Amino acid sequence: MCGIFGIYNHKDAANITYLGLYALQHRGQESAGIACFDENTVHLHKQMGLVSDVFTADVLKTLQGTNAIGHVRYSTAGSSDLKNSQPIVVEYLKGHLALAHNGNLTNARIIRDDLRDSGSIFQTTTDTEVIVHLIARSKERNTADRLTGALNTIEGSYSLVLLTPNELIAARDPYGIRPLCLGRLKDSHIISSESCAFDLIEAEFLREIEPGEILVINEKGTHSLFPFKKVPRKHCIFEYIYFARPDSFMFGRTVYTIRKAFGRGLAKGDTVEADMVIPIPDSGIGAAIGYSQASGIPFELGLIRNHYVGRTFIEPEPSIRHFGVKLKHNAIHDLVKGKKLVVIDDSIVRATTSRKIISMLRYYGAREIHFRVSSPPTKYPCFYGIDTPSRKQLIASSHTVEDIKTYMQCDSLRYLTVEEMKDALDGGDYTFCDACFTGDYFIPFPRAMDMEQMELFSRQ
Ligand code: AMP
Repeated sequence: MCGIFGIYNHKDAANITYLGLYALQHRGQESAGIACFDENTVHLHKQMGLVSDVFTADVLKTLQGTNAIGHVRYSTAGSSDLKNSQPIVVEYLKGHLALAHNGNLTNARIIRDDLRDSGSIFQTTTDTEVIVHLIARSKERNTADRLTGALNTIEGSYSLVLLTPNELIAARDPYGIRPLCLGRLKDSHIISSESCAFDLIEAEFLREIEPGEILVINEKGTHSLFPFKKVPRKHCIFEYIYFARPDSFMFGRTVYTIRKAFGRGLAKGDTVEADMVIPIPDSGIGAAIGYSQASGIPFELGLIRNHYVGRTFIEPEPSIRHFGVKLKHNAIHDLVKGKKLVVIDDSIVRATTSRKIISMLRYYGAREIHFRVSSPPTKYPCFYGIDTPSRKQLIASSHTVEDIKTYMQCDSLRYLTVEEMKDALDGGDYTFCDACFTGDYFIPFPRAMDMEQMELFSRQ
């Protein structure tokens, strides 16, 4: 769960990157960083914290140069500390190089062990550093070919930006799991995880980087390579459900329209009678609007979110997570009192947030609570870059819908089915990875990965 950004040929490259990272902040709140080149001198600033905490006007002044890349991070591999923050900047035989990555490499541990056995020294515990080592060891002459060689060795998901003194290179894995797009601001080319960053800086959206594409941007213009074997597209469905910003255009559609379609799908075939539909903000809003429009049940903002608290799920300490639920949502008492409610959220992970919200609504006098989830039960962890807990902690992996309903203490519970989700995406080929719902892991991973994932989540 990370956001990446890159810009080539702009006199305020670092400032634009800073703005871009603001728009991508929802993709990672642990650390932020920018690297840029001023001729052959590299400047790097990265720190733990939000973009607004990490960069000051004085810091941005030091980030000179016309090309820059940036990164916001939430760890899915490697621990959450400064040494693992990105961009990673290294000096090797061919000079300096900066790299920022969004995704998760499934064979990183194996490659890392091999490299270490042959003498490599690692500075971080991220999977991203493996790519840098492979680039440095490559015998190819230019950076794009070195990168191709490295990417041919790794498996898993990656959208990445790589910067050298004279080139910005963007790459997306052959399945196109994580998003990445290309924009233009006058004479500058821009790469971003999501198109919402282009809107902020008034850049033009050109297109999405294709799955398996390596795009080289330099003084000659842009040049695309497609060096990998073609495989079916497997875009992450969870980007649509939860992770991406609703105003982004991604995998060929606007995220908000998909969220509404999931809500409409949920309403179809639902016979519940209620006074109002209320979303759990912000993640349930799009689906609740769709549900309301399809069912004719009025939409109300029955729950108000305090935006100054981070996403509860993402807080690293268990104590903060616990308080976070109460800090984050409150109900409008008069509105919900005595009412039959349809309450909508995009997903249930551990069911702790939803359970507490239901209990709060009851406390304020709600008469009936019908909980609706605009995605299928999340039963399997993601190994391709979304931060989901191990199976043990995913309530739907070991409990029936009826059990979950009892645990949450709602009057009824309904999830969108996998079939309804596919229908809502309306026609054409189904080009999504839905392993979190189906367990269909199309990229094999070593068993050890399971353990790592468990370890990662035992921190929470
Ligand atoms: P819970 O009720 O505790 O299962 O939490 C569900 C909430 O977590 C929903 O509002 C989701 O939007 C949110 N959520 C789902 N997946 C994630 C994730 N990977 N990271 C952070 N929050 C998530």
